[in-house]
Amino acid sequence: MQTEITEKKVCGLTLNECLRTIEAFHGWKAPGLVIGMFMIDWARELVGEHVEADAIVETRHCLPDAIQLFTPCTVGNGWMKILDWDKFALSLYDRKKRHGNRVWLDLEKAEQFPDLYNWYMRLVPKNALPLEVLTDTILSAERSVLSCESVYITQSYERDKKGKTAVCPICKEAYAGKLGKVCASCQGKGYYTAFNSHINERSEQ
Ligand code: ZN
Repeated sequence: MQTEITEKKVCGLTLNECLRTIEAFHGWKAPGLVIGMFMIDWARELVGEHVEADAIVETRHCLPDAIQLFTPCTVGNGWMKILDWDKFALSLYDRKKRHGNRVWLDLEKAEQFPDLYNWYMRLVPKNALPLEVLTDTILSAERSVLSCESVYITQSYERDKKGKTAVCPICKEAYAGKLGKVCASCQGKGYYTAFNSHINERSEQ
């Protein structure tokens, strides 16, 4: 029996490997990532190991990191779309057939685990709940606090393809040509004010 427990795989890894992966990336066992690991494990299992699946995640917090750790989908490769809804939910889907599965943290189920529920709903101050207790709760809950539904993706979330590259005549930097004759920054949509002098890499402080 014992070997069965220790050999149990989550996201294709042993549980300890998963937790080490989270810790190495995040610096600590972030609870949102541990829940996310079980969500991805379930969604991945349903979509099928060998399907090239894209991801849509419905919050900017925690879950996108879990997707980047446990699937090939990253923000950088354009296989993951992030919706700023603050819903603890994600979908993995076959990008050609647009069919997949949505998994979310089900609050009604989470109520059976008061520590988890209270943490998620921010009903307790952070220091009132030791991380180990919360992590153990999540690890014992596994999928029992999650729900899953089969979905067809109706919005066309095409993978971001790089379009034509242009060189801005004002700042001389390369940018996405579709944005106009000069780059967004030189159109006045920039986010910074630059000081006059360029910093020389080799200059001494
Ligand atoms: Zn420019």
